[in-house]
Parts: sequence; C-alpha cells; structure tokens
Amino acid sequence: MLLPLGAALGALVGASALLADALLARALPRPLLRHAALSSLPLSLVAWLLFTGGRMRRLPAQWLLRPLAALALVASAALGLTLLRKLTAALRARSLRVRVFGAALFVAAAQLLHGLDHRVLPRLYEYLHATLGALTLLAFACAASLFARPRPSRPAVALAVLGLALSPWAFTRLDAWPNVRAEVFGVHAPFVRHLALALTALRPAPVARPYAPPSIDPSAGVDRSALPRWEGAHVLLVTIDAMRADRLGRVVDGRSLTPTLDALAARGTVFSRTYTQAPHSSYSLSSLHTGEYLHETVPLGQRQPLTTMAESFGRAGYATAAVFTRGVFFTEGERLTPYRDRDLGFTRADHVDRDARGQADALVRELDDIVRRGEPPSLAWVHFFDAHAPYQGRGATPEAQYDDGIRHIDAALSTALDHARSVLRRPIIVAVTADHGEEFGEHGGVYHGSTLYEEQVRVPLIIAAPGMSPRVVTQPAQLIDLAPTLLGLAGLTPPASMRGTDLRPWMLPSPPSAPRTVFASVNTRVMVVRLPFKLIADLTFGVEELYDLTRDPTERRNLAEAHRSERSSLRASLDAWLAALAAESGGGAALARGRLGDRTVARDLLALARDRSRPADTRAEAVTLLARFADASLIASLAPLLRDASPDVRAEAAIALGRAGDRRARPALVDLLSSDPPARRWRAALALDGDPRATEALTEALWSDD
Ligand SMILES: [Zn+2]
Repeated sequence: MLLPLGAALGALVGASALLADALLARALPRPLLRHAALSSLPLSLVAWLLFTGGRMRRLPAQWLLRPLAALALVASAALGLTLLRKLTAALRARSLRVRVFGAALFVAAAQLLHGLDHRVLPRLYEYLHATLGALTLLAFACAASLFARPRPSRPAVALAVLGLALSPWAFTRLDAWPNVRAEVFGVHAPFVRHLALALTALRPAPVARPYAPPSIDPSAGVDRSALPRWEGAHVLLVTIDAMRADRLGRVVDGRSLTPTLDALAARGTVFSRTYTQAPHSSYSLSSLHTGEYLHETVPLGQRQPLTTMAESFGRAGYATAAVFTRGVFFTEGERLTPYRDRDLGFTRADHVDRDARGQADALVRELDDIVRRGEPPSLAWVHFFDAHAPYQGRGATPEAQYDDGIRHIDAALSTALDHARSVLRRPIIVAVTADHGEEFGEHGGVYHGSTLYEEQVRVPLIIAAPGMSPRVVTQPAQLIDLAPTLLGLAGLTPPASMRGTDLRPWMLPSPPSAPRTVFASVNTRVMVVRLPFKLIADLTFGVEELYDLTRDPTERRNLAEAHRSERSSLRASLDAWLAALAAESGGGAALARGRLGDRTVARDLLALARDRSRPADTRAEAVTLLARFADASLIASLAPLLRDASPDVRAEAAIALGRAGDRRARPALVDLLSSDPPARRWRAALALDGDPRATEALTEALWSDD
C-alpha cells in the first residue's frame, strides 16, 4: 500500500522541486546556492521550532544559537542535495540498465527509511519522524528523477503542474478508501501522517451514520435458577497488571510460565476471549469495579456510579480488603478521584508498593485477619505489578524480562492460594484477570495505552469455584462483566448502575449460542468485537479497520473495503452503543458525540454554537469541543462569536481562535488574562502562545495545584 502512495507523493515532491529549481535557475546559476535558497525557508522554520522546547529554550545566547542552527541545517541540506543532484545526473547519463539499478537502490533506501520510521522510537519525537518521512519522499523523488530528461519538455512541465494542481482532489478521492485512511491516519503510520494532517482542511467531513437500535442481551431466556452460585463464599479477585491473554499457559524453555494459573484454569471456566474496556490501568480497573464504560461516561460528563463491586459485597455483610498500588491511577487518575480516594469501595486497603512475593504476603495477612474476625464471607482483591514496565525480571530482551515477571507472580500467587485453602473454611471463588495487555512491536509500538489491537486489549480471565466442571468459553467477554458475575456467583444482585453482563449463563453445560458484542476504547478510537470480526474506528479521523480474528488473529489485513456489509453492521452496533451512552448525558446528541471526539458532528456543533436560542453554557461547550478538531476553516467561522452577548461564548471563541493562531482573538484573550475563573485565565494564556503578557498567568498556573 505504502509503496505506490509514497512513490506518487515522492514524484509530486520531485516535480515541484524541479519546477522551483528551473524557475530559480536564471537568478541563481550555482546549484549549491539554489538548493540553499530552496531549503532555507522550511529549514529555518525547523531550526526555530527546535528551540521552542523547554530544554532548548533555557540555553544561553539564543540570538546566536538559532541563526547558527538554521545556517547549519541549510548548509548541510544544500550540500546533501547538491551531491544527490550530481549523483542522479551522473546516473541519468548512463544506460537504461544502470538507471533501473540506481532507481531500485533509491527505492530500497526509501523502504529502509520507512522501516526506521516505524521501528525507531515509534510514536515519539514528531520531528524525527517528520525528517524520516521527508527523507523517504526524497529517496522516491530521486528514483523518479533518474528517468526525467535534463531539460523537461513543455508537455512534461504542463503535466507536472496539472498533477500538482489536481493532487488535493486526488487526495480527497484516495481518502474515501478505508485502507488509505488507515495508512494515513492510523496509529502505526507516522510516515504520511504529517502530510495528511496538513491536508485535513481539504478533506471532506466523514459522513454521519444513522443509529441502529441496541442489540438484545443474548442471555435473555436463560433459566436463572440453574445458574451456579455459592452463597456466603469467599471471593478472591486477582489482577495482574499488563498480562496479555496469550501468556496464560505459554510454554517458554520447555515449561509453562503460569503453572498455578494453569491448575486453576483446569478446574474452572476460562473466558478465552476477554477484552479490557480501555488499555489503561486507571480506566480499566475502575470499569471492572463499577461495571461501567468509564472511558466514555467520564468525558460525557455523566455522574459516575458510586456503587462499586466492593460496596455491593460490603452491604451484604462481606468483609472487603484490597492490596493494590495507587500507581494504577497514574493515567488520567484526576478524572477518577472518587474511586481512588475511596479505594474503590474497599473497607481495608493496603497501598504499599511491593513485589509479587510482598503482595502475596500482604494478601495472606488480610486473609488471616478475616479468620481472626470469625471468618465472615469476604471479597479480597490483590493486584500484582511485576509484569509492568520497566520490567524487573531477568532475561536478554524486554519480552523475556516481562515473561519472567509473570513467572514470579504465578509463583507468589501459588503460596497465597495454598494459604487461603488451608485457613479458610467457606468455599472460595477465585477470579484471575488483567487490566490490559502489553505490546512488543506487533503493530509498531511498545507498552500499552495506545491501540486497540489484541496484544493491548485482550486479557486472561479464569473463574474457578469448588465443584465446577472445567470449560473454555470462546464467545467474547469484557471486564465490566466481572463485577455482576462475581456478585451473581455469591448469590447477590448487582446494582442497576452496572452495565456488564452476568457471565454465569456461559458457565452452564449448554451456554447461550447467540454471538456476543463487546466494546473497548482508547483516546478517540473505539472497538467492537462480534466474532469473527472486529472493527476499530477512529472517531476523530474517520479511520475504520476491520479484521477477521479467526483467520487473521494478528490483525494484518484490513478488510474494511472487502467486507462492506460486516463493516457497516458492526459500525451500526458501535453507533448504537455510543448513542445509548450519549443519550444519558445532557445537552443533546451532537454535544454528547462531540465530547467523545466524534468528528462527524463538527458542523452540528458549529450550528449549535451559533444558535442564540440555546443556553449560553451549551453554546460555549459546543465551541470548546469544536476547537479540539483543529479544523482551521470551521474554527475561523467562529470569529463573529467574539462579539457574542454571552461572556462564556465570547471567551471560548477567543480561546479556540487563539489556539488556531487567529490574530483577531488577541485583544479578547488579553482581556481574559485578568478574568475569572482561573482555569479559563490559564487557557487564554496558553492560546496567546508566546505573548509576554501571558507569562504571569502561565506562572500562576504552574504554581497552582489544580
Ligand atoms: Zn496497568
């Protein structure tokens, strides 16, 4: 896919460079000077940008350093380009066979650069990737230039001009193909992303789709009295941070990484296709404990369900104790403070950071304490952190170190489980899962929290209880199902706020056969799985990827073009899910979808912002949301709102315009610097970008705790 796209773009870049070169040839006869002149503008900009970062800004003698950096960049580019020009000119003079060989070398260089772009520090250092992208295009341009004549004929020049003029149109046509969109805007495509972002203004807004009704719960009709339950049992919940589903029972060096978990799986139910709600610990664990899609409902501004699983157990007379590090609230934890501050509803909580052995010992202490209190039924939760980066285990590669971490956790869990079985007299229900997976380069990245591919979102799930017959459930499950399931297993009724499904019907000898639909999300991307397909949609960039998980488990072939009916049926489920969540928040559908980053409602938000019959806070929020899409033309049409009757609408319009670099907003932003609330003052200061008048408000923001 990338080769023709890159070659076409490279040919365009080459053609425009040749054209500019030809135009400049008379004024500047020396190629070196010409190349310096051509590259001076973009590279001076790069040099200037280099010094906008915090560290570079603190260096002394900026007045000297910045021009020197620009000069060095321009000089090396001019020299490099001149050498390249000499090389290509020499090659052009040779036979066709030599030229073909030379072009093949340039294409190979382009592929190498592109490979580096994917492998070296993926998704970090935008400038590095922009440079690698530019060099890739240059290599393609050189390959194309080997077949150009030294003095282009008039028809050739006319063709190049026509090609340049038509390229925006061609881009919008290409944009309609899902594979091109995925290649350009997808998370694993840094190469053309910069170019594409620059062209977003030319791109038509994605088409809004009608919503389909939500799907029906497939467990409806199950005889509930036949469902397994152990009243008054002990429930032991074990979560292993960052453990991938494929690590359960994985054999390394001739033995399983997880003998303890394997033994548990051999006598319980394994939900072999379980998804986290979001590949971040904070959202994932909070969703697990509340049974709610918090990654959506928090930005939607909905009141969060305060009844957690632990509180539901506590109200029924269970003792509740948790052993977990508060580090799990690291990402966006400020949005989940009610859960962090109340320890997710556990009466006792131990947050000391320890290794697996220490965590297991802490769990043993909690269990002993429960026994000392006369052994009431209990819910105990332990969270292991040893497989989380930076990996502490032994091994030659990060992956081996990660595996070693899991081996440690399994061994520590073994002692804790043996102890539990020896001291507790009530039946024990054990559930083991993870908050998310971990990537090792499968889709060009590492760690977690960035994509919705299987390695990051699939987690193990084992539920074991006495007398259960072993079973493997291949229908998808999701983490929000766990709280209603564990409450159900203990014979308790889950609170109405829990959106997860009680999984007990799938533990029966004849489980429901209807396909299940599960969802997950990260940043502006959402995912739906209904076997055998999985659809990932980026709400902001309109990218859609469809994978057949049974035939293509590593998600290599995007079938969004080939399987249009499956794609639209899954998209309808996704839209219905989002619409159902959005319907519960105030302000109407457009505002709700905007809060989720859905670009399809950009024009509706603009209309809402301009509609003076609407409440001022609704209009102001519409402006704030619109600003996030960074669509220059839409934001520019907010200018009349700078004179709006509502001060809130005026302020948000000024901030949106200021952030888009519109100078008309400056006077209003300067006024906002002395206004309240403080958060708005600080946002105005940020929108003033570099204006010395903003310094005071920015300093105030830095010292503030909010
Ligand atoms: Zn985590």
